[in-house]
Amino acid sequence: MKTITVLSGKGGVGKSSIAASLAVLLAESNKVTAVDCDVDASNLALVLGVRELDSSFGIKAEEKAFVVEDKCDSCGTCASVCKFSAITMEGGKPVIDEALCEGCGACVLACPNGALDLKPVENAVIGSAMTEYGFPVVSGQLKMGMSGSGKVVFEVRQHSKEIASGHGSEFIIQDSAAGIGCTVIASVKGSDYVIAVTEPTPASFEDLKRALGVVEHFGIRVGIVINKADMNKEMTESIRAFAFENGLSVLAEIPFDRSFVDALVRLKPPVVHNKKLEPVFQGLLGKAMTAMQA
Ligand code: SF4
Ligand code: SF4
Repeated sequence: MKTITVLSGKGGVGKSSIAASLAVLLAESNKVTAVDCDVDASNLALVLGVRELDSSFGIKAEEKAFVVEDKCDSCGTCASVCKFSAITMEGGKPVIDEALCEGCGACVLACPNGALDLKPVENAVIGSAMTEYGFPVVSGQLKMGMSGSGKVVFEVRQHSKEIASGHGSEFIIQDSAAGIGCTVIASVKGSDYVIAVTEPTPASFEDLKRALGVVEHFGIRVGIVINKADMNKEMTESIRAFAFENGLSVLAEIPFDRSFVDALVRLKPPVVHNKKLEPVFQGLLGKAMTAMQA
């Protein structure tokens, strides 16, 4: 089973639309599972037309502090060490605001009476569903105000392997979180190939370079997709030159197309909504498959 991860250094560049389109095309001749690792803002299932996941379960991938009241002597040390202002002293007793607690454990270490400890809390929901395109999608979503995204991505990937293996999938297409943080690292690690999506803007180009640094760290082969390539021809040329200088392939240059937005509104991957886009996505997929297997 091969894993292809679609990432971008910056959000909003069409990563999920591209991942969904590639999954649909690949599924025409292969067994595929689509996975949304963008747990802070998951939308891959929606792009694939799934409004509600069939099976979902909570996971505990974060810890929060709690007070063992009969050990507390109200010294107030914990409130002064918490850098997240999660502890306030009320009526001489420490009160922990779970929404602010990052589970760093500083208060547990600082308490002179062993009156604080950490407990796991449910911070995310993972689920799956069969898409109308005949392959499953697995998705994770952080709960409001919760953190611990990297661990949640790990759990999403673990669950997706079970679903993919039950489905007999030959390929997993992952939609990574944007950026260079722990969710991206958790998405990229162990991938067989990475497709890095960018737009021809200075900010997106700089973010692409940072994201490529993460991929390079793990020694994974990567190709670049320039979305809305005709919006800024000079910048597109700079991205091409950068790719050439660094021995990277530009897998596709997708022209600006309003149907990307229309497709999102209709909960369809762009390649399904607008058949004219099929050649560009077929070309992208073909180049990615060749590069992955080289
Ligand atoms: S540091 Fe420990 S003993 Fe002191 S107020 Fe906090 S929980 Fe209570
Ligand atoms: S675990 Fe860290 S963030 Fe949470 S209350 Fe203790 S010191 Fe504050």
